[in-house]
Amino acid sequence: MKEKVDYAYKVTQFCQQYIDKGEGINILDLYNYLCWLERSQLDKWKSGHAQLLGNLIHVGQKKQRHVIRHFIELTKPFQYFFSKSSTVSLVRGIVPYEIGDLIPELQEQLFRIYLPTTMTERKKANLEKKLAKASEFRFFTHTGKTENCIKCKRSFKRKELYYEDNYDRYCLNCIGYNDLILLPCGDATRSRRAKKYSARFAEVMEYNPRSRRYERRGILVEAKAIELADASCLKDADSRAKCRKKAYHERQLEDVEYIFQFSRAIRKQFPLCPVEEVYEISKHATERNSGRVGRTAAAKEFNQDMIRLAVIAYIRHKHTPYDRILASGTSKDYARKKIMPIVKEKLKAWS
Ligand SMILES: [Zn+2]
Repeated sequence: MKEKVDYAYKVTQFCQQYIDKGEGINILDLYNYLCWLERSQLDKWKSGHAQLLGNLIHVGQKKQRHVIRHFIELTKPFQYFFSKSSTVSLVRGIVPYEIGDLIPELQEQLFRIYLPTTMTERKKANLEKKLAKASEFRFFTHTGKTENCIKCKRSFKRKELYYEDNYDRYCLNCIGYNDLILLPCGDATRSRRAKKYSARFAEVMEYNPRSRRYERRGILVEAKAIELADASCLKDADSRAKCRKKAYHERQLEDVEYIFQFSRAIRKQFPLCPVEEVYEISKHATERNSGRVGRTAAAKEFNQDMIRLAVIAYIRHKHTPYDRILASGTSKDYARKKIMPIVKEKLKAWS
């Protein structure tokens, strides 16, 4: 006999999970939870790169109705409320979402997001901002293949910006964005302010063949927005420089404190390690942005294995011919194996 699925229980579980996280829920998240709709397909559809939503749902209408009924009932006792402004935008970019054949009950729920009453105002505001952002434009640079704008049929020049929607490419002229100016990346404050002052803006992405992905080049904004942003940046340049300096000093103090703590942890584990060397190891391992073992989360909790690794790395470079062996062209594994006895001996001597 086929096992009967207790959907009421499953929907309850789903809602509870999101309440614990304090996040908003949408019916499509539930469909995904029930394995009726794959997340990757859903994301593809949302970004305009998939067929009609109706074709992606693998379940009969009767089951859908049953579950939606539970969903609506359950959002009430769970104190979810539906905020008018937190609807998923029906229009993404310039092409509207295509939903295809869906049951009316689903269509009604489709663009609603239920928020828990426990959600803080700040979190709510952030969520609404994020939802509004979904329809933000993104432009890409054309890399050279012969291709035409879907609307005016003109072929793109090399490096020309285009907008892509549903696999169709549009030139900036055809979507009314050709009067905007590129503000390159680099000054975060300037970009953020220009974006704020510009009624229309878009992100510009460029394909980097070396990393094989699109990278952010800057934003397109109105010319007057750049002027306003520059004026406002000039106005508070002094106070911003002061803030940066203060933050720098704070970081330095933090570093000193961390080196001190790290040294203490080394001394606890290796009490016979000479004081100057303890300092050397700590300073090297904990250096900011170095990606070394001292910057890992485990090391920040002074995990014994991490401390040991930091000490081993130091011994390797300072007390063994490791670097010389490596320079002669052997593999890392071989070089490490070869110096292992010296490292072990040192660790024993310091313990
Ligand atoms: Zn065009």
